[in-house]
Amino acid sequence: MTKIILKRGRDESLRRFHPWVFSGAIAQIVGEPAEGDIVGVFSQEGDFLAYGHYQVGSIAVRILSFSGEDVLGPDYWVNMVSRALNVRVSAGLAGDGGSTNCYRLVHGEGDGLPGLIIDYYDGVCVLQAHSVGMFRAKGAICEALKKVYGDSLKAVYDKSSGTAPFKAGLELVDGYLYKAPGFSDDEQIVLENSNKFYVNWTEGQKTGFFLDQRDNRALVGKYSSGRNVLNLFCYTGGFSVYALAAGAVHCDSVDSSKKAIDMVERNIALNGFDPSLHTGYCADAIDFLRDVPEDKYDLIIVDPPAFAKHRGVLNNALRAYQRLNAAAISKVAPGGLVFTFSCSQVVDKEAFALAVFSAAAQTGRSVRILDRLNQPADHGVNIYHPEGEYLKGLLLYVE
Ligand code: SAH
Repeated sequence: MTKIILKRGRDESLRRFHPWVFSGAIAQIVGEPAEGDIVGVFSQEGDFLAYGHYQVGSIAVRILSFSGEDVLGPDYWVNMVSRALNVRVSAGLAGDGGSTNCYRLVHGEGDGLPGLIIDYYDGVCVLQAHSVGMFRAKGAICEALKKVYGDSLKAVYDKSSGTAPFKAGLELVDGYLYKAPGFSDDEQIVLENSNKFYVNWTEGQKTGFFLDQRDNRALVGKYSSGRNVLNLFCYTGGFSVYALAAGAVHCDSVDSSKKAIDMVERNIALNGFDPSLHTGYCADAIDFLRDVPEDKYDLIIVDPPAFAKHRGVLNNALRAYQRLNAAAISKVAPGGLVFTFSCSQVVDKEAFALAVFSAAAQTGRSVRILDRLNQPADHGVNIYHPEGEYLKGLLLYVE
């Protein structure tokens, strides 16, 4: 196995279990590793530190194990997948007979598996590799999923074409790694807190559904009874379904994707709501808000895509959050609520709160923070890798 030897003093972050080795920390590579190979990482003094996936780039090694266990054998993947599943069972998300049968099974560094995302949709696992190592390991990961879930596993779908780094020799074509006999669908109905959703992993964005808003959708439900709801950036209508299930008088859902709006309408019908209670609009959210009469909505959800994908555009992103939130705060009816989110990892919760504060000040309205919102338990943050925290939100009460 290739040895990666770190520069003197550059072993400290690994000793604190941070799961990345930056290329600048490397003194010497003993061997000629191919991208995605498992390498051993050692200090300048020769101490073993960790095993990880090697890749050319700023993050040179993504750590798989700090303990020296055998990371090359099949038991490694079974062990890691089982540990991840145990966390979801502890959180009340996985297991039989619950009101939820979809969850994120593996959340990258949060589950000690940098570069790997697996979302579980009632027996269908949708895998996204973000590194060469995970992409090359997908066969072994699929075998582990078969062992861990047994007969209840319906399919494993690899959807890495949009996430794995484009490198020579990697054939980035999405497809099934496994299908149980008789399983032939690209879509299925899942349950989230007893609400039903179609999830289409081949056609949909990301793995097909935004599992990270489960708890925040439940909170929207808690506040929706008797309210006229506007769900901006609705995607497949998660918040809309919860709002109507909780007794909202009406819900308008807005997304710039026609496919998303079609899915919202199917999800509204799937849950048996009277179609007159809901309207879907394929439109730009900012344009839509501009034409909204003041006082029409008394609950507005603002859940845009990540405005900043890297630090270089942070200031522009903060300005965009401020503009969008000012528009929403200015339009909500007196005594109304705004649920506002950012899923940009580089915008931390303090910066986001400051952008929303500036937005509120711009409108001149009296605004209270009723709640601070986060990502849920199946998107857990490894305490040694705070970069894993990305979803944040505020629940505002606007007078
Ligand atoms: N709230 C959703 C997830 C939102 S993802 C849920 O709970 O599932 C962000 C969505 O914003 C995507 O569906 C994308 O199509 C949409 N979008 C991106 N830019 C937009 C814009 N300018 N106006 C309206 N929708 C937009």
